[in-house]
Amino acid sequence: MTERDITERGRIEATPPFHAQTVERVLTELDTSVLGLDADEAASRREKYGPNRLPQEPRPGPIRRFLAQFQNILIYVLLGSATISAILGEVIDASVILLVVLINAVVGFIQEGKAERALEAIRDMLAPAAAIRRDGHRETIPAEDLVPGDLVLLKAGDRVPADLRLVETESLEIQESALTGESLPVAKGTDPLDSDAALADRINMAYAGTLVVQGFGAGTVTETASKTELGRITGMIAGLPPVETPLMRQLEKFAGVLTVVILALAGAMALFGWAVQDFGARDMFMAAVALAVAAIPEGLPAIMTIALAIGVTRMVRRNAIIRRLPAVETLGAVSVICCDKTGTLTQNRLTVEDVVTSDESDTVKQQLLRAGLLCNDGEADWHGSGWTYHGNPTDSAFLAAAVSAGFDPAEERAAHPRHASLPFDSRRKFMATRHLFQDRPEPTAFLVLKGAPERVLDRCAAEADGSPIDADGWKTKIDALAAGGRRVLAVAWREAGPEHETGYGPLSDASLGTHFRMLGLVGLIDPPREEASPAVAECHAAGIRVKMITGDHAATARSIAGSLGIGDGTRALSGPEIDAMDADTLRLHAADCDVFARTTPEHKLRLVEALQADGRIVAMTGDGVNDAPALKRADIGTAMGANGTEAAKEAADMVLADDNFASIAAAVEEGRVVYDNIRKSILFILPTSFGWSFVILAAVLAGQILPVTPAQILWVNMIATVTLALALAFEPSESAVMARPPRDPAAPMLDLYLLWRTLYVAMLMVAASYGAFLYATATGTPLAEARTLAVTVLVVCDCAYILNARRLNKGLFAKGLWRDNKLIGPAILATVVLQAGFSYIPALQSLFGSAALPLDGWLIAVVAAFTVSILVEAEFQIWKRLRRN
Ligand code: ATP
Repeated sequence: MTERDITERGRIEATPPFHAQTVERVLTELDTSVLGLDADEAASRREKYGPNRLPQEPRPGPIRRFLAQFQNILIYVLLGSATISAILGEVIDASVILLVVLINAVVGFIQEGKAERALEAIRDMLAPAAAIRRDGHRETIPAEDLVPGDLVLLKAGDRVPADLRLVETESLEIQESALTGESLPVAKGTDPLDSDAALADRINMAYAGTLVVQGFGAGTVTETASKTELGRITGMIAGLPPVETPLMRQLEKFAGVLTVVILALAGAMALFGWAVQDFGARDMFMAAVALAVAAIPEGLPAIMTIALAIGVTRMVRRNAIIRRLPAVETLGAVSVICCDKTGTLTQNRLTVEDVVTSDESDTVKQQLLRAGLLCNDGEADWHGSGWTYHGNPTDSAFLAAAVSAGFDPAEERAAHPRHASLPFDSRRKFMATRHLFQDRPEPTAFLVLKGAPERVLDRCAAEADGSPIDADGWKTKIDALAAGGRRVLAVAWREAGPEHETGYGPLSDASLGTHFRMLGLVGLIDPPREEASPAVAECHAAGIRVKMITGDHAATARSIAGSLGIGDGTRALSGPEIDAMDADTLRLHAADCDVFARTTPEHKLRLVEALQADGRIVAMTGDGVNDAPALKRADIGTAMGANGTEAAKEAADMVLADDNFASIAAAVEEGRVVYDNIRKSILFILPTSFGWSFVILAAVLAGQILPVTPAQILWVNMIATVTLALALAFEPSESAVMARPPRDPAAPMLDLYLLWRTLYVAMLMVAASYGAFLYATATGTPLAEARTLAVTVLVVCDCAYILNARRLNKGLFAKGLWRDNKLIGPAILATVVLQAGFSYIPALQSLFGSAALPLDGWLIAVVAAFTVSILVEAEFQIWKRLRRN
């Protein structure tokens, strides 16, 4: 029995808690080492302890989710209508209304389930990962697979994946507000503490759910899943947020207004018919019910949900993972994309291209490469056949350069052990380390500095050989390298002064001093991604400004931006220049300039705010822990999936699986398609609803008999929405979506033109179906058959009109009418079959009061449908011409 087993049964008194034990004791108790577990042991512990995952809040059960489908004001009106019909003894109408409400709820329930599953699948894709050491090698595994004894490696931006007893720390700071409420980060160490230290004081532990804000660390897992401190507090993680977006809320509001209008109109109509036209009260009640069910677009909410879910799925296929559903809509309105350079526009495969020293001597060059290897947070791993590098790409490039010059990283590091470091930080723009010469008789300490050349130069007093520094000469060399698009870093070193004499104690900005010797410059290339340049051009054509934000030198930034087609090739605004501007000045410049250099994450936040103040919808990319505020603030915060930190991903609305700029452009395109498809569905459904309402109004006002019954209206509404309009949610992208400017987010979904078009189509449909009805009754056709004719004409007109509604910007005769959307043909066919059933199946005849339609009825319907479709097309063409002139 291991001590761990004893712990499981309730800690025995003698065993102090992990934070009170030495590192060695903890490792022994957990039966592990600083090299981590081996694969077999990890697997058997995984069996024993289960997944490192908090149980999820149970989802509302299917019954509750089904009942939620009825919580909608439009449904209340329908239920009210059913009640009135029932009271008046119109059992069939009442049951059909109830049936429709039911079908609608079932469809909504199924679609919502699909949308939720789509989101859930995405959540799995974003499951956090943990870097661990296994068998002495570095590996990345799903955080869920962690077991007690695993050795987890931490770096800035990581969310701590389990409770850890720290075994190594380097400038490690962790923000623990999730647990302790304390928002200031806590500096961590490894020394044992008092057993009764409070949670907030246990600085040698890292707790699950807290955030690493600086430095590095390694810790062995002590507890996982619900046994962690976080698990004890929360017990479970929150379930999925409800599927709702601003557009849906807008629609709900619209539904509210619509309901009031419908009720008022129905009431006024009934009163008028009863008082003026001498209709019976009962008939007028039923007419009011008919008007209400006609005007309500029952299927719209379900179609909207499915259109959004399809958008999410399509975006995933194009490597953009949506974390919050509203982002799907907002993406379509994006007018500015602010993008990091390294890794998103470029390949993030940094390689050392130039090494520039003062006298081109080999000794200095060797010294520089060695210094670059020592002052480095990357790791080089020999795998038998070659080296692999971990860590940030700049550091990896330095390691690779040193390795190819013949250095052995492990040997060098052993010969010059590192005693302190000031890690790289995008605000500081350099890193510094302190080492010892092991080989000297008297161990002496020395410092190495590596970073943005102007920062390094500021601290240099001498050249490598000790002569006074030629700062101007270096500046010329820096500019020349940067103008060639190189990322430029300088490396310097100095022997540590008396303040560092012992070789111990922390390193700080102040203790670094300014007596460094300049070893030289390194120029790194990072080729642009192949897809970046065409994607930038696509965004420009789509009226979207692309702005490049980088921590690099202005000249480097300009050169790379120029090769991608970003900016005018001459202007670049730098971080210090931004600092000197107040919000108003920045607003002017932010809109104008497309390249921002030497920036820090704080500048990103200010830029987002400046652009938003100008009315732009901003997508902003980020990867670091400090990028989180800018990502949260942006309309579309976009994090890098491969190289981004957990902190950035959590703050983002969208995560790019491939860290690629082109995926943002693709997501914007899909966002526009979703918005278009919702608009198309509305444009398709509303004319039918409006048309019927007009017919009923007109009939009552004219003192005529109703051409359709409420049940028949519902029949048309249902097949028009459930079969036909649903196909519109699957419409692919129109070629023009990325050739027009972004939509104005403040503009209503239905602009004046679309409103006009809705009314125009509604009038055409009324004319066709009411006309057919009047003609039929005038020629002595029985009422049931005349009504069937009216319904058939409308349904067939819908089948033709859907072809017009498929394109917002193209005519009926443009290419690909049937080909692009394979669902359109089957949807039309299904509708016609259903309509035939309506007319000929006895059961449906008695349910809907329909009758068998002779062939000429169908002919009338087909001719009417063609005419309506052609007239809509004619209007579109005239309008297009007018707009062009
Ligand atoms: P981009 O915005 O293009 O992605 P970035 O914001 O990642 O770039 P930073 O990482 O902040 O840019 O780097 C800014 C500057 O800091 C670089 O130009 C370089 O001079 C310096 N630098 C970058 N990485 C390191 C490193 N590992 N060690 C020392 N200095 C570095």
